[in-house]
Amino acid sequence: MLPDYHIHTTLCKHATGDVAEYRSEAEKLGIPEICFSDHVPNPDGYDLAHRMALDQFPSYGKMIEALHDGETPEVLLGVEVDYYDGCERFLREWLSARKFDFVLGSVHFIEDWGFDHPAQRHIWDSADITATWRAYFNILLKFVESGLFDAVGHLDLPKKFGHRPTDKDLKEMAQPVLDRIAGAGMGIELNTSGLRKPVGEIYPSPLIVAMAREREIPICFGSDAHCPGDVGDRFRLALDLAREAGYTEYFRIRQRRKELVPLPEG
Ligand code: ZN
Ligand code: FE
Ligand code: FE
Ligand code: ZN
Repeated sequence: MLPDYHIHTTLCKHATGDVAEYRSEAEKLGIPEICFSDHVPNPDGYDLAHRMALDQFPSYGKMIEALHDGETPEVLLGVEVDYYDGCERFLREWLSARKFDFVLGSVHFIEDWGFDHPAQRHIWDSADITATWRAYFNILLKFVESGLFDAVGHLDLPKKFGHRPTDKDLKEMAQPVLDRIAGAGMGIELNTSGLRKPVGEIYPSPLIVAMAREREIPICFGSDAHCPGDVGDRFRLALDLAREAGYTEYFRIRQRRKELVPLPEG
C-alpha cells in the first residue's frame, strides 16, 4: 500500500475523528506511513472558518507528536498551505522556523472567491470557465515561483463541480506551470478526494498526470481525508492512474527531503 500524505484533523473545523483513529484506519489498510497535512493557520484572519488559529498550532504539533510512539504506520508532520497574493511574507519565516516533514501547497481562492467551496459554487454559473482556469493557473505560476512548497495539492481543483476547459486550452495553460514545477524540483499530489466530489475524478486528470510524467515530476498520494474512513480512499485507482501515465516511482518525504521509491507491485 501507498503512504497517505494528505489527512486533516478536527482543528480545521470541518473534519471528524481523532488522529489516532486516522492512524488505526491506515494500519488496517496496510498503509506504511501517513502524513497529517492540516490547513495551515494564517495571520490576519484569512479563512479562519476552515483552519486552526495561529495559537492552536502547538496543539496540532502535540497531537502528531503523541503518535511518535514507535508504532506503525509512521506519522509525519505536514501542512496544507494556501497560496494567495501576499502570503509569502508570513509563510517564508513561519514555515522555515518549524520542523515540517511535508509542506503541501494548494490554491483554493481566486481573489475572494473560494471556487471549490460548495457555498460559493453558484458563482460558477456566471463565470467564464476558461478565463477562471486561466486565472487559477496564473496564481499557480506565482505559487511555484515562491519556492515555498514541496508539492502541489489537487492541481486541477477548479474541475471539482464539473467545470472544465477544453483539453487543448488545459494543455496550453498547464504546460508553463508544469515546466516550472519540474524546474523547481517540486512534486505533485494524486488526490483521490475528487472521486468523492461531483466531478468524480482523481485530481489531477490523466492528461495532466501524463504531462507531469513527461517532465519527470515526482508524485505522491493523498486522500484529503476529513474523516477516518477516507484514509487511503481508492488508492488502487490512483496507483493505476500513475502507472498508466508511465510512472514507476513515487516520492516519500522526511524533513522536506524527497526520496524516490518504486511503486508497489500488483
Ligand atoms: Zn479541508
Ligand atoms: Fe485543499
Ligand atoms: Fe486538504
Ligand atoms: Zn485539500
